[in-house]
Amino acid sequence: MSIQSLQELGKEAQTLATGKVIPILPAPTETAAESEVARVMQICNACRYCEGFCAVFPAMTRRLEFGKADVHYLANLCHNCGACLHACQYAPPHEFGINIPKAMAEVRGQTYADYAWPPAMGKLYQKNGLTLSLALVAGLFLFLALAVAAQGGPSQLWNGNLGNNFYNLFPHNLLVGIFAPVFLFVVFALFMGVRRFWQDVKPATSNVDVSGPAAAEATHDVLRLKYLDGGHGDGCHNEDDEYTLKRRRFHHLTFYGFMLCFAATGLATVYHYVFDLPAPYELPSLPKILGALGGVSLMIGTAGLWMLNRARHPLHGDARQKPMDLGFIALLFLVAASGLALWLGRATPALALLLCLHLGAVIALFATLPYGKFAHGVFRTAALLRHNTEKREPSPIGLGAD
Ligand code: SF4
Ligand code: SF4
Repeated sequence: MSIQSLQELGKEAQTLATGKVIPILPAPTETAAESEVARVMQICNACRYCEGFCAVFPAMTRRLEFGKADVHYLANLCHNCGACLHACQYAPPHEFGINIPKAMAEVRGQTYADYAWPPAMGKLYQKNGLTLSLALVAGLFLFLALAVAAQGGPSQLWNGNLGNNFYNLFPHNLLVGIFAPVFLFVVFALFMGVRRFWQDVKPATSNVDVSGPAAAEATHDVLRLKYLDGGHGDGCHNEDDEYTLKRRRFHHLTFYGFMLCFAATGLATVYHYVFDLPAPYELPSLPKILGALGGVSLMIGTAGLWMLNRARHPLHGDARQKPMDLGFIALLFLVAASGLALWLGRATPALALLLCLHLGAVIALFATLPYGKFAHGVFRTAALLRHNTEKREPSPIGLGAD
């Protein structure tokens, strides 16, 4: 290598260290957060020490430049495990200041807001914090309690003669009339958001349609939370540079707890409409078994995630998104805890209040799903689908990729 080339490389390193993106990039990024991801990716692409940690690094090696779509894609491939921060010799206080978890988290938060549907609702990502979530539950609880009191008098709120049947308070068709539109809106809003993300990211990730094997591998990665094992099986980081599998386990308990509760509700709908067997169900019916297991799993998982989140290393992720994370965790916990309390207190005078609390928490959870932390699961799944698709294609740069 000539002296002149070495001098040019030295200049490039200095430019990167001062926080600027090298101006040869043909694909400009737009925000400061996106530029920061592009900057750190250029340095990592030269270093590659962290190649085995997660999907971000193999995806990075397929690129020489990092435009907006690449940055959005990589940010959603990162799940903020912290491994590359603790391994990095250029992490703060080094002058290069490489902090990938933080840079990626800031762009992720931006993508949720940018791709939100309807677009005006994107601002809720900044506001959907713990206080708002709990205030929403309290408001809905009050509203439902007042509705019960208005219908049957205040004594209805503490009534031991309701006979274990909450349809005496809210008829089945009324509940369907409340939940069906909320649920359909949530599904549609999430679909529209992730569709816009997909349209932007697909051309930057080989532009090839997802094949069966790619979809199967992505599903496997999602269901196993593969990358939360740190790439070596010992787990990722939380409060320090120790490896831990706690994040993976509590995520699993939360995810599968949520899915079991969802399956219980779906099955109860089938029982009601197909077999003409209306709720409430008791043990050992399948909806009750699934619901009880799901509720307990969700409570343990969210309690663990709350604890880990509170203890998280201050350099991991974007501190401004903590209230959103905690708001989502609190809502999930409240849904599970109130659901189990409703079941245990079904034959007591507290049935009406417990039902109002549970319904309030469920409506609040669903209403905020497209504008809160839940979006990370949807966007991350889409990014993993693109990753498992593009990695099956030849590297566009032909060098150093997997
Ligand atoms: S995070 Fe640091 S150690 Fe890891 S690849 Fe990037 S520059 Fe290298
Ligand atoms: S924080 Fe973890 S998931 Fe994100 S890029 Fe670093 S190693 Fe990968």
